[in-house]
Amino acid sequence: MSIETLAKWVSESGRIVFFGGAGVSTESGIKDYRSQDGLYTTVKEYGISPEVILSHTFFFEKPDVFYDFYRRFFISDASPNDAHKALAELEKAGKLSSVITQNIDGLHQKAGSEAVIELHGTALEFLCTKCREKTDGTKAVKAIAEDAMPMCPLCGGLLKPKVVLYEEPLYDGVAERAIAEIANADMLIVGGTSLAVYPAASFVEYFKGKHLVLINKSETPLDQKADLVIHDSIGKVMRAVLEHPEVGLW
Ligand SMILES: [Zn+2]
Repeated sequence: MSIETLAKWVSESGRIVFFGGAGVSTESGIKDYRSQDGLYTTVKEYGISPEVILSHTFFFEKPDVFYDFYRRFFISDASPNDAHKALAELEKAGKLSSVITQNIDGLHQKAGSEAVIELHGTALEFLCTKCREKTDGTKAVKAIAEDAMPMCPLCGGLLKPKVVLYEEPLYDGVAERAIAEIANADMLIVGGTSLAVYPAASFVEYFKGKHLVLINKSETPLDQKADLVIHDSIGKVMRAVLEHPEVGLW
């Protein structure tokens, strides 16, 4: 029944914005360091929490430990799942104006999405901490995968991923772009996030369109506010919507 409603709304909408979190990536097999399991493993093996390892201070103090953690949680050969693919398809069909994501794995772009706002940056691009030059991310990722620290090919300085670490602000203009997209949307689909990570929940407040939809396996603090809540796999729901005759894109 809820798929029916969602499909109807998708067919009627022309400016859908999708706001997604870790749950979108975990369905591609990406490990979530914020999950109970991720937290447990990290504390057990490093003696500190993921939030400490992923902080600005820690990066400069112990880059070797930082990159060891990075290799295990952020480097993967994961492929886009049905959620990523469905969103790319909706963008091509002119129904979706943008994807706003808290994930840093680049899977939306890999699926073909072009209008992607990465709130926390991307794990696939790097900047030199010394000469500030941008560098070939593929080589840096390869070095990390081989258990080495990525170094700048120009000056030998340490490379830093273009991700927003704890203690760091979001990149300039990113929050503003996300808010503008949400404010102009006629439908907002929030998926795969418990909305616990700041400032995600506050962004939703800017939505003034017709339908607010939440798709998440567990309950979220915004469930009460939504026009439709589906507690299920985001990939499964998006596939069902695209296959629904009302939408008919798959
Ligand atoms: Zn350099």
